[in-house]
Amino acid sequence: MIKTLSIKSKTRTELIDITEDINRIIKESGIKSGVCYLYVPHTTAAITINEGADFSVRRDIMATLNKLIPASGDYQHLEGNSDAHIKSSLIGVSAFVFFEDSKLIVGTWQSIFFCEFDGPRSRKVLIKIV
Ligand code: ZN
Repeated sequence: MIKTLSIKSKTRTELIDITEDINRIIKESGIKSGVCYLYVPHTTAAITINEGADFSVRRDIMATLNKLIPASGDYQHLEGNSDAHIKSSLIGVSAFVFFEDSKLIVGTWQSIFFCEFDGPRSRKVLIKIV
């Protein structure tokens, strides 16, 4: 069975920590040990795992992405959000994490982030627990 985590982003670009939401969904599944697959079914969003302890890290990641891939540039896509499509492809739309005792096994400083590149929007992350 595939679970869905609904997310509402608040700004055009942001990293949203979903680690505890994923832990809750794993716990609700009743499965103690396995693999959690995460998939973002959007073309202007992504998922990444990085430091969650210091808020400035997620700020720096987004600020650097915005600098490398500016909102306006030599783009042809008429929707006007090419930067968001490019960021989505660079970061990627899938991740997986192992879990044990119904809890994600991540590094001390790691968090799972939903990456919004063209918000604010209603989004979802698909989760398969095996
Ligand atoms: Zn587009």
